Amino acid sequence: MALYVQKYGGTSVGSIERIEAVADRVKKTRDSGHDVVVVVSAMSGETNRLVGLAQQISPEPTPREMDTLLATGEQVTIALLSMALHRRDCPARSFTGWQAGIKTDSAHTKARIQQIDVGSMQQELAAGRVVVVAGFQGVDDADNITTLGRGGSDTTGVALAAALKADECQIYTDVDGVYTTDPRVVPEARRMAQVTFEEMLEMASLGSKVLQIRAVEFAGKYNVPLRVLSSFVDGPGTLITLEGDETMEKPVISGIAFNRDESKLSIMGVPDLPGVASRILGPVSAANVEVDMIVQNISEEGNTDFTFTVHRSDFRRTQTILEGITEDLGAREVLGDDRIAKVSIVGVGMRSHAGVASRMFDALAAESINIQLISTSEIKISVVIEEKYLELAVRALHSAFGLDAVEETA
Ligand code: ADP
Ligand code: ASP
Ligand code: MG
Repeated sequence: MALYVQKYGGTSVGSIERIEAVADRVKKTRDSGHDVVVVVSAMSGETNRLVGLAQQISPEPTPREMDTLLATGEQVTIALLSMALHRRDCPARSFTGWQAGIKTDSAHTKARIQQIDVGSMQQELAAGRVVVVAGFQGVDDADNITTLGRGGSDTTGVALAAALKADECQIYTDVDGVYTTDPRVVPEARRMAQVTFEEMLEMASLGSKVLQIRAVEFAGKYNVPLRVLSSFVDGPGTLITLEGDETMEKPVISGIAFNRDESKLSIMGVPDLPGVASRILGPVSAANVEVDMIVQNISEEGNTDFTFTVHRSDFRRTQTILEGITEDLGAREVLGDDRIAKVSIVGVGMRSHAGVASRMFDALAAESINIQLISTSEIKISVVIEEKYLELAVRALHSAFGLDAVEETA
């Protein structure tokens, strides 16, 4: 007898029919003799709807009230799923984040789980009940409701699996596993049977929203067996593993991630003096804006052009900050572009293969796609391009690195 944590995302609980289907699946696991803790998201679209309501009242609602609002979506689905389980004679009990003992810090809308008091959940399991927990939420020390950032139910699932020492954390979603790239953009994308934590972490942080980054971090840190599966069709899904499958020859590139959430800012003609980078980025980070890629070009006249990327939602704010310091810095002007996209190739196989970057650049050049910025790490290469070429770039790279599914010939 095993203990499984099963997390069901928004689409998987997006209607009454789907909640009924989830109840069937949970009951089936229970009937095979296993204990089950279920984590659910809000019905698909619900969290966005709540954000929209708040924005009709205030462009900047206080984060505490925002969390109180956003956490309601998941309270609906835990109750409905528990009812559906009762109808199937499957004893079950719903738990909001605080009832499940999920304690977080006080960073509203992006709180981190600090501790989980598993006592009451364990009592329910011992009494033979299915525990149904609201994802994405917890409480801080002062009992304020907090949320874990968009996509945070994945993290609730993994954290509960770690705290309860579950045999596996199963992330049920609307695709049947992790693909070489988003299958909605590249129909030729292939499901991976396995992917390493290291690669999954890069893919998630570079834009593959199939798993929240923190969930992958957590699973890697606490060694939680993690699997991504479809809630609609049966199948083995994708297992996230510590090590790759040694019996298989490793592909150079495992996957391609992309992200449309970035924007680019340049401050041109800055006198090239010590401390210039910190004088530019200091005020940006003081405004709580996270900077991603940074490039500094030295020009011959002792001036430098300084370029960096920030989340698109921080674009205007950052532009205003830069315009405010242009004169002080003796810089010429500020340029901005919020129609960019980042495309990244990821693979541990890159460590042992030369020429990966040039293969990537050749493939983009063949489609006449101009590269604006480049950044690399040991297992990834990212480029910034014009947003309108994003899909073309992802498809070209997918095929250039031999990731396209091979048509079965009968
Ligand atoms: P859920 O609501 O279940 O949490 P998400 O929408 O957060 O689901 O994540 C699933 C989606 O992630 C898929 O529908 C797919 O479009 C997208 N996705 C992006 N990259 C990948 C990838 N490499 N493999 C699989 N799905 C991906
Ligand atoms: N409902 C939240 C969101 O839409 C959390 C989640 O689905 O994981 O972001
Ligand atoms: Mg998700």
